[in-house]
Amino acid sequence: MTGIRFQSTRDTAVTASFGEALVRGLAPDGGLYQPQHWPMIAPQDLPASDLAALAAQLIAPFAAGDALAAALREICAEAFSFPAPVIELDPGRLAVLELFHGPTAAFKDFGARFLAACLTRMPVRRTRPLTILVATSGDTGGAVAAAFHERPGIDVVVLFPKGRVSPTQQQQLTCWGGNVRTFAVRGTFDDCQRLVKQLFLDAPLRQARDLSSANSINLGRLLPQTVYYAATALALAGVHGDPVSFIIPSGNLGNAVACIWARRLGLPIGQILLAHNANSTVPEFLAGGSWRPRPSIATLASAMDVGDPSNMERLRALYPDSAQLRAAVSACSVDDEAIRTRIRSDYRRFGRIWCPHTAVAAEAYARLSEAQRRSGRWVLVATAHPAKFREIVAPLIGHEVPMPPALAQLFARASAFREIDADLGALRRALTESADETSK
Ligand SMILES: *Cc1c(COP(=O)(O)O)cnc(C)c1O
Repeated sequence: MTGIRFQSTRDTAVTASFGEALVRGLAPDGGLYQPQHWPMIAPQDLPASDLAALAAQLIAPFAAGDALAAALREICAEAFSFPAPVIELDPGRLAVLELFHGPTAAFKDFGARFLAACLTRMPVRRTRPLTILVATSGDTGGAVAAAFHERPGIDVVVLFPKGRVSPTQQQQLTCWGGNVRTFAVRGTFDDCQRLVKQLFLDAPLRQARDLSSANSINLGRLLPQTVYYAATALALAGVHGDPVSFIIPSGNLGNAVACIWARRLGLPIGQILLAHNANSTVPEFLAGGSWRPRPSIATLASAMDVGDPSNMERLRALYPDSAQLRAAVSACSVDDEAIRTRIRSDYRRFGRIWCPHTAVAAEAYARLSEAQRRSGRWVLVATAHPAKFREIVAPLIGHEVPMPPALAQLFARASAFREIDADLGALRRALTESADETSK
């Protein structure tokens, strides 16, 4: 059986198999890979209550015919080894999907672990190591570093914007050592992302090493993220019969695209609402404005501080007509003051502690009209554990946030990183120097 191929968002003639798309990260023309067509799945035949089995079944049509296909069950068992519980807040109307029970306490663990499980099993015998490049606004880098740490034949380069991640996130980005090198870039997340894209197109570097990206531009992060949307939609729609609508804290739009893909696959998903912080490029566009990417601004929900979201390119490729796109998803923008107020008030109302990102989704729900809230079942996507942002959250709720054991373990490790300017030359020099240091 041959699998579905993946085509570039820029030139549909540029295609790749599943394994090729995962290794390349970015298509050679600078576009992003997306499925060439969508398999027909029958939701009623899916194993709704077992995440790993569901993942293997959903992803199988994409991996069919690929060298990784035979290992897919094992890959999914390794990546989906922790739960994604759905908890009712207002039974029958509002629930929360908790995606923060993995090793670094954010939803990025799902995609990062799936990608790592795939790349370490790539059957090509490598003559040189594979370097994974990752630009992070805070959570991706930690999840990717944790997933790839000590994997043979693979090294990881993490770029984060200096001073723009929480102290807990910084510890997660810098505590690894070994095959993980971390750089604090004097700039924004968008600078980090630009540097990764430039490195990719850098011919001399490409000659010296195999490069891949673990950002949400990589298909290997997005496909596994469809799985928890599928599981939630099956579980809730199964009980109540109606499609399930999601409110997704969004930045680079990877998690949003995964939800749209799950809906394309035929899962019972209704509305998709993108909850952005004060970085309002996407909400302004969806409200009818022009597309105006801009530098990101720093907010409390820092993992969503993105002014020029990469995955917009995938959204536009799915819905080339702006009117169609505006019908497919909606968006809103929430400022820091509203985040603070929402964390306080939902703690009093539900006894739930939100991280600042999840609070953006909770605020977006509160802003829906009563008619919209009654139009179906809504699910808030909880993207990170509040303890990752305890410096922000604890003063608002008036006490400490209990730390999950996985996070506490990371604090026992020493931290190391180098600081660099936000330009390609500085990064190239730092990469060569730190490679020399490592080999000494
Ligand atoms: C990365 C991240 C987001 C944004 O996800 P995108 O896929 O970039 O839109 C939201 N919340 C948290 C906690 C994150 O780490």
